[in-house]
Amino acid sequence: MSKKKSDDELVSINSSDLEELRRSFRAIVDLRDRQYGFPSKTYRSCFVGSDAVSQMIAMGLAGDEEDAVHLGNVMLHAGIFHHVQRAHAFKNEYLFYRFASDEDHGGIPDAVADGSSVRWSDFFSMLTSTKGSEGSLQPSLPEPDTELARMDQIDLDAIGVLPLDEHNAKLLDNVHPKKWLDPEPKPSYNLVVIGAGAGGLVSAAGAAGVGARVALIESHLLGGDCLNVGCVPSKALLRCAKAAAEVRDAGRFGVRIDGEVSVDFSYVMERMRRLRAQISPVDSAGRYSGQLGVDLFIGKGVFTGKNSIEVNGKTLTFAKAVIATGGTAAIPNIPGLADAPFLTNNEVFNLTQLPRRFGVIGAGPIGLELAQAFQRLGSKVTVFSRSEQIMPKEDPEAVALVRESMIRDGVTFAFNASYKRVEGQGGKGPVRVVLDKDGREEVLEFDALLIATGRKPAVSGLGLETAGVEFDARKGITVNDKLQTTNSDIFAVGDVASRYQFTHMADFMARLVIKNALFFGRDKVTDLLIPWTTYTDPEVAHVGLYEKDLRERKIPFSTYTRELNDVDRGIVDGVAVGFVKIHVEKGKDKILGATIVGGHAGDMISEITVAMQGGMGLGRLAGVIHPYPTLAEAIRQCGDAYNRERLTPTVKGIFHNLMALRR
Ligand SMILES: Cc1cc2nc3c(=O)[nH]c(=O)nc-3n(C[C@H](O)[C@H](O)[C@H](O)COP(=O)(O)OP(=O)(O)OC[C@H]3O[C@@H](n4cnc5c(N)ncnc54)[C@H](O)[C@@H]3O)c2cc1C
Repeated sequence: MSKKKSDDELVSINSSDLEELRRSFRAIVDLRDRQYGFPSKTYRSCFVGSDAVSQMIAMGLAGDEEDAVHLGNVMLHAGIFHHVQRAHAFKNEYLFYRFASDEDHGGIPDAVADGSSVRWSDFFSMLTSTKGSEGSLQPSLPEPDTELARMDQIDLDAIGVLPLDEHNAKLLDNVHPKKWLDPEPKPSYNLVVIGAGAGGLVSAAGAAGVGARVALIESHLLGGDCLNVGCVPSKALLRCAKAAAEVRDAGRFGVRIDGEVSVDFSYVMERMRRLRAQISPVDSAGRYSGQLGVDLFIGKGVFTGKNSIEVNGKTLTFAKAVIATGGTAAIPNIPGLADAPFLTNNEVFNLTQLPRRFGVIGAGPIGLELAQAFQRLGSKVTVFSRSEQIMPKEDPEAVALVRESMIRDGVTFAFNASYKRVEGQGGKGPVRVVLDKDGREEVLEFDALLIATGRKPAVSGLGLETAGVEFDARKGITVNDKLQTTNSDIFAVGDVASRYQFTHMADFMARLVIKNALFFGRDKVTDLLIPWTTYTDPEVAHVGLYEKDLRERKIPFSTYTRELNDVDRGIVDGVAVGFVKIHVEKGKDKILGATIVGGHAGDMISEITVAMQGGMGLGRLAGVIHPYPTLAEAIRQCGDAYNRERLTPTVKGIFHNLMALRR
């Protein structure tokens, strides 16, 4: 048996899990009569250990040979199959193994499990693994700001979707049907998922896709933040804001616009609502319960025991559970704010009238994206930051470009803001931010004030103590590298359990959990390579380690930078600013991290992410043909620069002499 798992862990696998595993494993191995020895003896209906190992890896059931052998031994010890002469454990060798069920039935194989719904590869082949790399290439992110954030819990149930026009009605029909009837709970579930944001939806769909019996609980809106009050609506606004900026800038290209450029804000918001509703069927109650076969409960889930959870007065029991409750806006501890009419991401997308003066407290990605958007849509925006910085974790040169761009747009920054109080009356009317300026009061008045000072994990009222799940009010649920909580049957994914608070992170955490919770996987979250983008204009995209991480970790590196306005496409497009910056380990062709700033930085970063994940160095990227003229040529040109540097004086001398001979 593999040394990595103890007997206790093997015993803890329950019988329905084992049966599931047996059926799926059986569907991928090549069972046939085989001959061996001299004179040859026929072994009926068996498979070969080394073939099974390759097959498990190819189908994504195991990440590598070690995983596969381990999983094989789990099954062998559970009596699912054995060596034909019961002489060996499961090995990656030319040894024959037979299913116990075939032995019982005189060697006649069962009908191959109906594995049509079991598509391991859908989930596992997509898991990102940088196994073999020396240490994680993920930078460390700053912790939530304790001083500023009171971490008040926003009442999720109180969040309204407004106005109730045809688009929002369509959205709600999909993500919170008015007359939803919960199904009758099944006696027990392979997986119960709490929260139907990105993390919960992927967990539920993935588990149902491999044949698990799944229940999904959502207290408010399926799709969670991303669809309803996050990525989708914000990017829809950003697109309109960009169009407005491009039109204002069109004179640069000889396009003359007579008269004022104006933005129809109510159209912008209606467009956003229409597109959000258009996307919503993918996350809908109908799709999950109808097409995917998930038991959907709309209500608040509360753990009542280590393997049970209550929703709408009904108890669901589970073998495994996933907590995917996400987070809400953290509200800063500023006197008077609680009584003032402020907005968070929960309300800002309900606006139908453009606030003439728009204040934004918080200079992280969410605050900056929306600040720039509202400024370009016609508001007069002020961004407050308690420090001298915006986007504190990003590359300083990238940050400088974003800051300059926003100032050019007309955004005002109030740095080193020391808040005295916030004043505002009732639910409406202007709201005033009162700052302490060297002992004097400075008052700034706004028609709307957005709070974007970070996120608070949704951990309260979940009965986590009863379930034996440890958590921290600021950092969220405590998980190990396999995303298991302190209750080994309960996992956590997404914003509630990670500082990398992105939809794609929640998605890939969920994929990892399906493997670890349902199939004895041992995938680690620290093996994931996570790129991200802030969608300001210019965009800032990043993957891997920052320069400051490399210095802190004392890793020797060289940096290759290419300005986008030096690349032909950048020149003809009139790209004013932006760059590609790639860090490579000294002496090795290994990319350690990269930042891209520019119009499509978020799309361009994937090329570097693919290279890093596939172990492709910058020198080799130089040999990849990029279409001319594209901005992505900047990446290839960094590769050229790297290769030029690699030519030592001796090699250069040899080339020189060779060329001279050929003249
Ligand atoms: C304005 C904004 C813009 C963003 N833009 C981007 C972007 O461009 N790209 C990107 O990658 N990320 C972006 N994000 C972040 C992204 O939205 C989150 O990382 C993502 O939504 C996290 O998904 P999740 O499943 O962890 O949680 P959530 O999406 O928060 O979902 C959690 C769900 O759990 C439910 N829930 C909570 N408690 C319970 C309970 N007790 N019972 C039942 N249900 C419960 C909630 O109602 C919610 O639906 C943005 C966020 C914001 C706010």
